[in-house]
Amino acid sequence: MAMPISTPHPQTPGSGPADTDLTVTDRLVQANAKYADAFKDPGMDARPVLKVAVVACMDARIDLHAALGLELGDCHTIRNAGGVVTDDIIRSLTISQRALGTRSVVLIHHTGCGLLDLTEDFRHEIEAEVGQRPAWAVEAFKDLDQDVRQSMQRVRTSPFLPHRDDVRGFVFDVTTGLLREIDPRP
Ligand SMILES: [Zn+2]
Repeated sequence: MAMPISTPHPQTPGSGPADTDLTVTDRLVQANAKYADAFKDPGMDARPVLKVAVVACMDARIDLHAALGLELGDCHTIRNAGGVVTDDIIRSLTISQRALGTRSVVLIHHTGCGLLDLTEDFRHEIEAEVGQRPAWAVEAFKDLDQDVRQSMQRVRTSPFLPHRDDVRGFVFDVTTGLLREIDPRP
């Protein structure tokens, strides 16, 4: 999850005045047209080549493929706020393993995560504002390492997953780009 404070992106070189009227989505659609022009069908199967699913935070600073040396088609990437193993992550992992052949799970939290600054009060504040409390937990945490352990434990104890022996958890340092492995035992 992105930190609340962000710096504006520099202007794209060569962008003309007309580009300023474009919404961000318009820009993405434009970029896609260029991408599709050069695109060649890789003829890949939907089953990830490396038989691995990576669960990570949605944070904008983490380029998972570059950080882990992954190529297109290598893995499933499953991301949410915090990289927390929720029921919906278990749903995706179950489909990943049972329908698409993955066997290993890699969990990645990171330094500077927005969830470190939140508490369950976030839900109560929403309730006060809109008159309804979200059914989901915020899954905020104060201790990164402990939350990675809890996420590993949730994967390892899920009855839905047939492959639970190769589950490893890491903290990604957004300032150095390095992963630090977390020992599953506290
Ligand atoms: Zn995060």
